[in-house]
Amino acid sequence: MKKHILIVGSGFSGMWSAISAARLAALQNSDELGITVLSPAPELRVRPRFYEENVSGFVAPLTELFTELNIVHLEGSAECIDTKGKTVSWRDKHGRTTVTGYDRLILATGSQAKRPPIAGLAEFAFDIDQLESAQVLERHLDALSAQPSTPARNTVVVCGGGFTGIELATELPARLRARFGEDTKTKVIVVERGAVAGGRYSEALRDVITEASAALGVEWRLNAGVDAIDAEGVTLKSGERIASATVIWTAGVQAHPLTQQLDAERDGQSRLRVNETLQIPGLPDVYATGDTAHARTDDEGNTALMTCQHAIQLGKFAGHNAAASLLNIEPYPYRQVNYVTCLDLGGWGAVYSEGWDQQVKSVRQEAKKIKIAITNELIYPPAADRKVAFAAADPLAKFV
Ligand SMILES: Cc1cc2nc3c(=O)[nH]c(=O)nc-3n(C[C@H](O)[C@H](O)[C@H](O)COP(=O)(O)OP(=O)(O)OC[C@H]3O[C@@H](n4cnc5c(N)ncnc54)[C@H](O)[C@@H]3O)c2cc1C
Repeated sequence: MKKHILIVGSGFSGMWSAISAARLAALQNSDELGITVLSPAPELRVRPRFYEENVSGFVAPLTELFTELNIVHLEGSAECIDTKGKTVSWRDKHGRTTVTGYDRLILATGSQAKRPPIAGLAEFAFDIDQLESAQVLERHLDALSAQPSTPARNTVVVCGGGFTGIELATELPARLRARFGEDTKTKVIVVERGAVAGGRYSEALRDVITEASAALGVEWRLNAGVDAIDAEGVTLKSGERIASATVIWTAGVQAHPLTQQLDAERDGQSRLRVNETLQIPGLPDVYATGDTAHARTDDEGNTALMTCQHAIQLGKFAGHNAAASLLNIEPYPYRQVNYVTCLDLGGWGAVYSEGWDQQVKSVRQEAKKIKIAITNELIYPPAADRKVAFAAADPLAKFV
């Protein structure tokens, strides 16, 4: 009888889980596996590009690819996981609820921005975490062009100086100039809790971030916390008041809330702790992948980060292993020893580093070319062609 793998989510990890499972079934000449992806739409949203202009274009359709690989897509959102009954109940866009069974479940629902209970944050802060919220920000910036030039209009405050905050802040000077004109004095201020800019990076990388910020005129408020946000700006814990029509929240992410439905161990970001085959201990039929998984990448104590780079590989292993378990094949332990960081630094260029110690290998336009190759090509879905897609889905094939 046919066995079913249900993958919840069609982002980087969900898409690659599905292709990888289909690949193994094809390699085994098996028509015993049914592969289904459940997500709100048969598309991949390219979240790493949400700090860029024209955000609506960063969506890649998946229907042709899924059809080519006999992957079924269900359009809806999972609401409840029953690991005892091995079912997922989900709601479609008309509000109808359906219950779908599985033999293996792969949870690939990604992550969401963390929004702490800061006064005014929910009402007044923008974010670029999801396509819709990034579109709201873009429309807001467009609308500001028609407003009189004031310090508040011309100032953007980015709360949080992590990966997303840095890429957005360094991109903003050009985005503001394009709207308000070259002669308008604009300001971009990053409010960061840490003592140094880019605190989670190596010293070499931090130096580059500082240099690029200075060249672009991006200011950093370090050791700074946000006390309150309102329609006219932000008040810092120090009492400093910054007048701004645009306060953007980028501080902190956590795994999708569905991770909390499972009776399993989670880390501080709500990610499910998985074993080396990406199964959840105590729930062997359930795999977590991408941003929902806390997984060891090597024997050196490194763990996967909430990045595309990890989500893509985690997806390939999760799909392979879920299929392997149904086809009675030995699974592959998840391994991802190589790690690179490529940060866009707007008009200054970019920085590219290799290794967990983040040795800087290139900067400025040379690194920008790498960044563009990654975000405009490497992370996009493969062609809707079995040979091409299956070759790319091999978990053991070289990735970065
Ligand atoms: C602004 C921004 C910039 C980033 N920059 C970088 C970068 O430069 N480099 C990098 O490596 N990473 C970057 N990341 C992180 C990267 O985007 C994530 O790590 C990656 O998207 C995780 O992949 P995923 O498959 O786990 O989740 P996602 O890609 O988020 O996919 C989740 C999927 O689950 C679906 N889903 C959600 N809820 C449900 C539900 N209830 N039922 C069914 N489906 C559901 C969604 O629709 C989506 O299809 C960035 C993220 C953001 C937001």
